[in-house]
Amino acid sequence: MLLSRYFLPVLKESPRDATIVSHQYMLRAGMIKQSSAGIYSWLPLGFKVLKRIEQIVHEEQERAGHVAMLMPTIQSADLWRESGRYDDYGDEMLRITDRNKNDLLYGPTNEELVTDIFRSHVASYKSLPLTLYHIQWKFRDERRPRFGVMRGREFYMKDGYNFDLTKEDALHAYNRHLVSYLRTYERMGLQAIPMRADGGPIGGDYTHEFLVLAETGESEVFYDSAVTDLTFGDREIDYDDVDACEGVLQEFTTKYARTDETHDEALFADVPADRQRTARGIEVGQIFYFGTKYSEAMGATVQGPDGKPTPVHMGSHGIGVSRLLGAIIEASHDDKGIIWPEGVTPFHVGIVNLKQGDEEADAACKALYDQVAALGLETLYDDRNERAGAKFGTMDLIGLPWRITVGPRGLKNGVVELTSRKTGESEEMAPEAAIAKIA
Ligand code: ATP
Ligand code: MG
Ligand code: MG
Ligand code: MG
Repeated sequence: MLLSRYFLPVLKESPRDATIVSHQYMLRAGMIKQSSAGIYSWLPLGFKVLKRIEQIVHEEQERAGHVAMLMPTIQSADLWRESGRYDDYGDEMLRITDRNKNDLLYGPTNEELVTDIFRSHVASYKSLPLTLYHIQWKFRDERRPRFGVMRGREFYMKDGYNFDLTKEDALHAYNRHLVSYLRTYERMGLQAIPMRADGGPIGGDYTHEFLVLAETGESEVFYDSAVTDLTFGDREIDYDDVDACEGVLQEFTTKYARTDETHDEALFADVPADRQRTARGIEVGQIFYFGTKYSEAMGATVQGPDGKPTPVHMGSHGIGVSRLLGAIIEASHDDKGIIWPEGVTPFHVGIVNLKQGDEEADAACKALYDQVAALGLETLYDDRNERAGAKFGTMDLIGLPWRITVGPRGLKNGVVELTSRKTGESEEMAPEAAIAKIA
């Protein structure tokens, strides 16, 4: 992409209402623009990162055997009356009436809709196990939308729903989700720690939230510092292997890690004193087993092996796709701007031409651009007629992993400069060497 033809409305000053760094940088880097409280337009750079994150979520869900679909944003109130949640959900639900006076709502989540689809089409236990998921916009009329995309009213969420014959099977689905989420966050360069969370009115022990540690997080968390040493890494896992998935759950959830809602001082006291940590965290996902709550209320039964109708065991599993942009920036930035992890970066390389219009410099930039493209990677080439300082400032702000700086003086010696955004280190080398290093 040529920057002269792109749309990157960078701001010099950070808008006053943005109080946390991710919100400031997303506005300054021209990634989002607020349209009304908690509702944003995704400008090209922000949209690109959103799509990268979405793609990783899809790949990991499909790897785990979960099936992608798409449900609408607008739902009928009737389904929610069946489950009893139309009245229970409260003011966070945006209620809409159409011209025929039908009650509709902008979905805050999809348990009812997906249960209706399931009961309409699945009759036998032989069709199980089944996990359906989608990535779709949600609306919750939050009391205090704030921190940019971190707590929006309209936000993008992956939500998945498992349908199983027995509790045991549903707990395997729960474990499968836990494993797939660990992989998902790590691919985004994030450490998200599964923490025991509050089951809410449904109760039960089967829910974990995934938290990214950050001072600006809205949740207070308590944990054994040993949990931060755990990584899933690139190990292979068979998602059908019940014991293997259960083993990962044990490994990642046995040490103390809880949000304030479930925090237990007595249990926390058993953690060695030098490993007790209190911190803040950003909730980037949650998994939940809730049994037959919706299947019983809405008549989602299958014929079991004994021929009798049995309500299915369900769970729901969410990832805050749009919130993740904020969480990643909170976890990865410096005082100059964002530092994108390779997995989600909007472009892999930025090229800065120090002397636009110089025949040799222009040709060298063009050649580098083509070579990066041949690697299957994307470049943002700053081909504007701007001062070097302004070009560097923009590149640092938008946080691409690599910058190649090209100028007539270096070219005379056959070199360009390669800079790592993460370490800040610059090195002069032949253009081919720079390409080899990026590949
Ligand atoms: P929170 O506690 O932050 O209000 P939640 O527990 O209500 O979140 P869930 O119903 O568990 O949210 O939804 C799944 C995921 O969707 C959350 O883990 C979070 O990452 C994301 N999410 C929830 N509400 C918002 C919001 N208002 N803006 C952006 N992302 C959100
Ligand atoms: Mg909430
Ligand atoms: Mg929560
Ligand atoms: Mg939650």
